[in-house]
Amino acid sequence: MVSSNKPLLLDTPFEKWDWDEVPRYRREQVRKWIFEKGFLDWDKMSNLPKSLKSELSQRLDLLPMEAVKVQGSSDTTKKILWKLRDQQLIESVLIRATEGTKGVRASRLTLCVSTQVGCALGCKFCASGLDGLKRNLSTGEIVGQILLARKEAGRRIDNLVFMGMGEPLANLPALLPALDTILSPEGLGIGARHVTLSTSGLVPKILELANYPAQIRLAISLHGGDDDTRKKIMPINERYPMEELFHACEQFIEQRKKMITLEYILIKGVNDDLKQAELLAQHANRLRAKVNLIPYNRVEGLDWERPEIEQVKLFQKTVEAGHAHRVTLRLEKGHDIDAACGQLRLKENNP
Ligand code: SF4
Repeated sequence: MVSSNKPLLLDTPFEKWDWDEVPRYRREQVRKWIFEKGFLDWDKMSNLPKSLKSELSQRLDLLPMEAVKVQGSSDTTKKILWKLRDQQLIESVLIRATEGTKGVRASRLTLCVSTQVGCALGCKFCASGLDGLKRNLSTGEIVGQILLARKEAGRRIDNLVFMGMGEPLANLPALLPALDTILSPEGLGIGARHVTLSTSGLVPKILELANYPAQIRLAISLHGGDDDTRKKIMPINERYPMEELFHACEQFIEQRKKMITLEYILIKGVNDDLKQAELLAQHANRLRAKVNLIPYNRVEGLDWERPEIEQVKLFQKTVEAGHAHRVTLRLEKGHDIDAACGQLRLKENNP
């Protein structure tokens, strides 16, 4: 069982590891064990002297969490429920996909990462927000999900999406140092353009993120074509209405010279009519944004439903007709394993 009162080593960016009495080359050996070989166990670090392993293990904890449930889906999506050191539960999802053009096809592995235990923003369709926010994750708990999920998958993770439990931009003090370790060639070495942060629209934080030096990607969870529709399902829209949100997006794009994505979950009878599709196309044109349509994944206990596939296709066609950039339809993987974020934790907490 994971439980410890020792500081978590991964909470400190590795370039700041400060063990005065430990020679630099020994710290480098530890770094390699953790980030290159993926070991979070002092005992397994075979080239360290026993005395050093014993001393470090008494002072510092390596393991931020343990997997308490792994559910594999028939469509190659795997969901992992983690128990943190204070017994809180979070989730990550491994998603396999084959990408590329004819002749050059490659299997890509994407990890959906959590940034908070629960969420304060209370989007009406989401299982993660049902119990409110318990706490932010630490830097080490964010990085730890990736290290341990990589081990679970037995291979390199190609893409990261911060679309798991929580609002990533509400936890920037822990997330930005985690990103430093994730992007660094001496850390996890994942390229910035393979990392996407998704936000429900925290305007001041979007502007703050615009100053982060690496070229990570930004996705906006829009889920409504106008304020009235959006605020029915996303209370955040009361605080930051769409015009304010788009203005922040324009500043972000101007500063970063980088295209953003508008994510749109299609919910039957709520936001799936063609008027909303036309509005979505207009917003995407204005922002020169890509659009990602996601038919809703049912959450037990909530009344929302996924539209019929015919309506989804019609909605997609309408957005495409009014929109010059790329529109993708993400037919949710893991429909059969509660892959909508927060559902596995919900079941574990309320058996
Ligand atoms: S959709 Fe995202 S921002 Fe909204 S409640 Fe769920 S986790 Fe929070």
